[in-house]
Amino acid sequence: MGANNKAILIIIDGLGDLTPNSPLQTAKKKNLDRLAKEGITGMLSTIKRGIVPGSDTSHLSILGYEPEKYYCGRGPLEALGVGVQMKEGDVAFRANFATAQGNNITDRRAGRIDTLISKKLESSLNFDIEDVQCIFKTSVEHRGVLVLRGSGLSANVSETDSYKTGYSPESKPLDESKEAKKTARIINAFTKIAREHLEAHEENRKQEKSGKPKANAILLRGAGNYKKTQSFMERFGIAAACVAGGALYRGIAKYIGMTLVTVDGATGTKDTNLHEKAKEAVLSLRSNDLIFLHIKACDSFGHDGDPKGKTKMIERIDAELIPLLAKSGANLIITGDHSTPCARRGHSGHEVPILIWGNERQDEVTQFDEQSCMHGGLGHIEGKDLIPIILNLIGKGKKYGS
Ligand code: ZN
Ligand code: ZN
Repeated sequence: MGANNKAILIIIDGLGDLTPNSPLQTAKKKNLDRLAKEGITGMLSTIKRGIVPGSDTSHLSILGYEPEKYYCGRGPLEALGVGVQMKEGDVAFRANFATAQGNNITDRRAGRIDTLISKKLESSLNFDIEDVQCIFKTSVEHRGVLVLRGSGLSANVSETDSYKTGYSPESKPLDESKEAKKTARIINAFTKIAREHLEAHEENRKQEKSGKPKANAILLRGAGNYKKTQSFMERFGIAAACVAGGALYRGIAKYIGMTLVTVDGATGTKDTNLHEKAKEAVLSLRSNDLIFLHIKACDSFGHDGDPKGKTKMIERIDAELIPLLAKSGANLIITGDHSTPCARRGHSGHEVPILIWGNERQDEVTQFDEQSCMHGGLGHIEGKDLIPIILNLIGKGKKYGS
């Protein structure tokens, strides 16, 4: 083995499902099964047993940052992921372009407006209100982030996205502090000005002419107050890099000071370029001890209730990603951040299978799926166990005691 003092942690988002006939059990995946046969397996509760994880909190937990202590809300993580240079005290939100008639929301995604159009609308959403700078950045389709930068702000305000249509968006302070009152006031002013700027924008004239929904309103959710945190290197003493397409995952990596690797065609969708991701991950091993490689699409198929799509994606991962990673000689840790059972169309608290291949003992398990890994030698572990296991795997564990 060439790189047995290095490791690649592969997180397949939403990997776990319900048995029997889970996508993992159904998929043809000879490479993953070979690694299961040669390695050690088990089950992982990424947060705690039975807890239904969000992708944000589960990733923090897996990467060694207890979410109870380090989770600062989804907004700041997304903002980091789309490249906003965050400052301590910033309050950030996830944002949606929406369609409004008058003050009434009629489509909370503005017909999933094209990314190219939302990009053109972006600059009209950057302005100041009182002493607060509003920083708006789009990501994909109707999605983006809003960062509020100024004195005395609070994330303790209500969202303006109510996950429904037929209402007029408004934020309210959720406590009596002057910070929450000020922030709600700024959000409501932003919502109003954004509505005017977008309504007047020439891109929306074009949308109207072609009979498409206008992107003429902004809805906000996932408020969080950004705090700087200890870097991965400071905390664990190893250099780590991230290969991911999705903004949230890039944002989490940025938040904990990992190096972000840019990969052509890493989209965070089912069309993602797995071969290219594998290649970049292996290249990045040269200057890093650990690579965190994230693949999103299995979770999306779970949310859509599409077991066939999820199965196909697992087969693609097996064929296009795993062989290249295994050839690098690095230790491989393959698991998910939570289960997204297709039958539930959402996350669940069922444990996910985990497989470790490299400097580990071998167990009797010969297949990588929910049912088989229950019998694995790792037993049942939690997210917080993973980084210590990886540090030991690559010979970087510190002795506890003398
Ligand atoms: Zn997830
Ligand atoms: Zn999900």
